[in-house]
Amino acid sequence: MKIDLTGEIALVTGASRGIGQGIALELGQAGAYIIGTATTDEGANNIKQFLTKHNITGEGQQLNVMEADSITNLIANIAKHNPSILVNNAAITRDTLLMRMSEQEWDEVINANLTSIYRLSKACLRAMMKARHGRIINISSIVGLTGNAGQTNYSATKAGIIAFSKSLAREVGSRNITVNTVAPGFIETDMTNGFSEDQRAVTLQHIPLKRAGLPNDVANAVVFLASNLANYITGETLHINGGMYMS
Ligand code: NAP
Repeated sequence: MKIDLTGEIALVTGASRGIGQGIALELGQAGAYIIGTATTDEGANNIKQFLTKHNITGEGQQLNVMEADSITNLIANIAKHNPSILVNNAAITRDTLLMRMSEQEWDEVINANLTSIYRLSKACLRAMMKARHGRIINISSIVGLTGNAGQTNYSATKAGIIAFSKSLAREVGSRNITVNTVAPGFIETDMTNGFSEDQRAVTLQHIPLKRAGLPNDVANAVVFLASNLANYITGETLHINGGMYMS
């Protein structure tokens, strides 16, 4: 069965690179109108160029998910394009052992990765509820299930996203809105390219499929959850990790 998202409007945060760019590309190629965000105007322009190059209709927008006003401005800017698909993808890391972690490093990660999802979901839900149709897809991480030394802040947000999604799924299911989570494993992006060769080799030992994932491995799961094929799936977490973690 071919997936067709024509008529859908997808807001993808952090679409300038990595997994978010892959998600914007795959959703766009399936026919959705894409609103992709970057933290700078230059990044937003690059997203527009990227979409045009791939014959995708859509736009780039500037957004800092850490600022409530920035989210309010975004929603105002895209007023005539109410998202029917929201992909909460943007996230940051501030990795360090807990004993060295400052309150600022803790707060920034909670704000960027978790509070942002509360704000963006709330901002997009009004129109979805009115339309009695919507998809919210939140990007978590394998470390939200396994934990990871040096990432107490980041992994706490990624576990929180799963519980947030399950709870919201129960609140809005009667309006035909689904809320699901995608939990990637080790994916080749800027977030992981700082890994040393040793870290990479150790990580690959734990992946039955013996390779790192690519952004489109994650994007394909997002397209599935956004499509009619996933009409009866909500509150679920899809693990895209080559078998590194099996629930
Ligand atoms: P990435 O390459 O570091 O890209 C991060 C994206 O988020 C960029 O588009 C960036 O925009 C945007 N962003 C950063 N801070 C932002 C802010 N304050 N407001 C709005 N946007 C912001 O990340 P990635 O590896 O693609 O990760 C994407 C998602 O997958 C994240 O939720 C991450 O936690 C999750 N994940 C990744 C992996 C992995 O192995 N890579 C594994 C598990 C989960 P700019 O370009 O403008 O900076």
